Formats: sequence, C-alpha cells, structure tokens
Amino acid sequence: MKKIKKNDEVIVITGKDKGKKSKVLSVLPEKGKLFVEKVNVVKKHTKPGQGTPGGIIDKEKQIDVSNVMLICNYCKKPVKVTFEIVNDKKYRKCKSCGELIDKK
Ligand SMILES: [Zn+2]
Repeated sequence: MKKIKKNDEVIVITGKDKGKKSKVLSVLPEKGKLFVEKVNVVKKHTKPGQGTPGGIIDKEKQIDVSNVMLICNYCKKPVKVTFEIVNDKKYRKCKSCGELIDKK
C-alpha cells in the first residue's frame, strides 16, 4: 500500500513549486513518482497538424514522491503517514492527529 494515492491533496515541499497545494493526478508506484496537478509544469510546443492549430500547451511532468507531503483530511496539515490494520483492513493513519485517513 502506498502512502500517497490518486486524488490525494498534497503539498510540495521542495523544488520550484515548493509550498503549492494540489491534487495527485496519478501515481507510478514502481518508479516512486507521481503527477500532481499544475506542479512541475513544462511548456510543450505542438506543431500545427490535422485539426489542431498548434502552439504551446502546459503539461505536468512527474515528480518524486518524496517531494510532496500528504495533507490530512482531518487536521488539514501536511503530515507523515503510517499504516494501521483495523478489522483486517489496512488504513493510512495520520501521524499528527492519529485519524485513519481512508476511513471517511
Ligand atoms: Zn491529521
């Protein structure tokens, strides 16, 4: 089980987007990378072609999982996550307030 999942709210803790809060678009668990909305955006030039005018588009590039922290649903702070098993189900647990993050 991963500490950070798709649709989690995270805060960037390092790099050019430091301090930015955003939503996880997708996770690449085997690489330890993720895509976060509007974070690490690069401009991509596209050529005019069939049905497309071309131009510059914004595209997110993957960042390292260690560059973000999860924002807890309960205490609304950037927190560290541990795991806890309750009734044979594994939950992520907020180290700050002790709530089970996925139990909502
Ligand atoms: Zn919390």
